[in-house]
Amino acid sequence: MTDRQTSVEGAPAGVALPYRLRLPGPTAVPERVLKAAARPMLAHRGPEFLARFKAIQERLQPILGRSGIPPFLFASTGIGAMESAVVNLAGPGRRVLITTNGQWGPVFRRLAEAIGAEVDEVVSERGDPIDLDGVRKALKDKTYDAVFTVHSESSTGALTDLKALGAIVGETEAVLACDSVSGLGGAEMRADDWGVDVVVSASQKALMCPPGLGIASISKKAWALIERDDRGPRSYFDYRRFRPLAEKGEPTYTAPVAMLNALDEALTMIGEEGATAALARHGRLNRALSAGLETLGFAVFPTGTPSPTLVVAKTPEGLSAPALIDRLSEGYNAVVAGTRFEDLKDRLVRIGTMGYVTDGDILTDIHQIASAMADLGRNADTAGALAAASSELSS
Ligand SMILES: *Cc1c(COP(=O)(O)O)cnc(C)c1O
Repeated sequence: MTDRQTSVEGAPAGVALPYRLRLPGPTAVPERVLKAAARPMLAHRGPEFLARFKAIQERLQPILGRSGIPPFLFASTGIGAMESAVVNLAGPGRRVLITTNGQWGPVFRRLAEAIGAEVDEVVSERGDPIDLDGVRKALKDKTYDAVFTVHSESSTGALTDLKALGAIVGETEAVLACDSVSGLGGAEMRADDWGVDVVVSASQKALMCPPGLGIASISKKAWALIERDDRGPRSYFDYRRFRPLAEKGEPTYTAPVAMLNALDEALTMIGEEGATAALARHGRLNRALSAGLETLGFAVFPTGTPSPTLVVAKTPEGLSAPALIDRLSEGYNAVVAGTRFEDLKDRLVRIGTMGYVTDGDILTDIHQIASAMADLGRNADTAGALAAASSELSS
């Protein structure tokens, strides 16, 4: 399984601890999905592959909460999928609104400014929910073509109330576009019901596939804006090229066949578990990890509803997050994330609870973190933390 140095301090001689990918993306890929990615190559416009492509589109619709226009699937990372939304919804000199409560709103801003759009931003503190009153006020004051938001702000762990935001934006002409890269599959999405006109996502988070596949889902309201000639500039990501082919169940360009084979298998696994059960599992694992970390003295960072797909937590006073992260990697072969926020570098850790994650993973996380704390000379109530997590796992 592992392709990195596995000789581990503390492990019995000759026994290497397994590599544990516990980032909020890319996430661990199940063996079945890896094997699917290694299936023989097919003609991307041949009948065998097209049947698979169509089945993928159909099985994504209920996960997106969308009926109508089938999802677009294309080779891209998550930021590419975000760019695809921006170049189709924004235009030079045209006004867009962005909600910012972490790292990813500013990425939308950068992408929109790159094509010469007029950008306004409704900013709230990192960790706080987006400012719904601020959005309401901005939409009263000016006319916007589109509002861009982030479903699961993976820099802070905040979940956006898309239902409330969709109701506000839905009263205006503006189109609501959402980055659900670290949401889709793990955090509930009901695009049609909530008025989320464009959803963009990617393969490597809750969908438990390797990185490299972008997803975009479009409403009819969004289409009227996308069709206009004053958008862009756009070429590779021009949704006007994507739609007629997507409606025939075909990819736009040479399909990333191996990636789509992987997604096909991941969707089969989600179907076996049940998409609703998968969402419930994400919530349960997330609460369990949070409870265990709190017992160890960590403080959950988001102030409102946490995203079920990751835990962002502040270390106990005096415990250096980079030291803990290094210790987990060197001593336990477990990889968790820190932060890009300079002023929080010493205190924030981020751990994924999305995709192919089980109860056992959460208990192992707690045990390894408590052990790493002890290695660093801290007291850690390992038994108490495991009990707190177990109690959430069985609730
Ligand atoms: C991971 C992530 C992205 C990622 O993009 P890549 O281009 O695939 O690195 C975008 N938005 C959010 C919220 C994410 O969590």
